[in-house]
Amino acid sequence: MPNYEIGSKITHRCKDCYHDEQTILKVTPKEFSEKTAYILWTQCTSCGQNDTRLTTSE
Ligand SMILES: [Zn+2]
Repeated sequence: MPNYEIGSKITHRCKDCYHDEQTILKVTPKEFSEKTAYILWTQCTSCGQNDTRLTTSE
């Protein structure tokens, strides 16, 4: 299971306004041959712009 919870805040820079805090909207697993990665669907807490970020469970 990922360490990311829906609704929690992460440090991730917004591409639009460069604010560095975003809220996690959704986490979807993405299977690779050796390990599992996750796509974080985030929303900027400042301007509301949606973004995605690929991360691993390691
Ligand atoms: Zn923003």
